[in-house]
Amino acid sequence: MQELLELLYPPRCLGCQLPGCQICPRCESELESFIKVPRVAGKPLYSALHYNEASSHLILAAKESNDRAAARYLAALTSMRFARLHREIPRTSYLLVPIPSSRAADFRRGFAHMTVLAKLIARAVESEHHVSCSVSPLLLPTRKVADQSELSARDRALNMNLAFTVNPKGRTARSGAGIIVVDDLVTTGSTITEAIRALKVANFEPDALLSACVAGRFLTNKISRSIRVDTR
Ligand SMILES: [Zn+2]
Repeated sequence: MQELLELLYPPRCLGCQLPGCQICPRCESELESFIKVPRVAGKPLYSALHYNEASSHLILAAKESNDRAAARYLAALTSMRFARLHREIPRTSYLLVPIPSSRAADFRRGFAHMTVLAKLIARAVESEHHVSCSVSPLLLPTRKVADQSELSARDRALNMNLAFTVNPKGRTARSGAGIIVVDDLVTTGSTITEAIRALKVANFEPDALLSACVAGRFLTNKISRSIRVDTR
């Protein structure tokens, strides 16, 4: 059906009518110019949304209320953002590695929040971008960490130090697959930095970071600095 539609109505850039694509790279970069691709621990971070009141409600609904509509919406937006990741880091297959919550939080919620979200993102990425995309919960928490929401950037880094390890039984990446660490919200980068460290120790080299939302020092504007940022 999709192929037939494309035959009848060849796609043109919605911004400038350039044939052959829905949004051309030039228009896409203009449309997305308010979101940077910053580097965290040397890796590019692709984020769909800025952290603000509206996105914080979506994140909380998906995480704490098991609201699948909110999770699917975040996954759809994150998959749209994946287009740029795919263009800049082209692979035919990708492995998404979700940031784990504490065992206590998974137990309390009754589900592993980021594994659920990563699976929704992988499904959206496969259908939108025609690449193979799977999820491997490679990362495991090693210990209990303190709630990060009231901690300074420095204390967050200390709090997350050696907090993750790699599951020896975790599914390894297909050779040539892009390894992408996925989180719902990146604030100071301390969690994702720890995830990269743990993966590298186990000889996994992440190619990029993907998050539904970005806050704090990675924002180009300061709208969310005053909003209390919830954490795992
Ligand atoms: Zn265009």
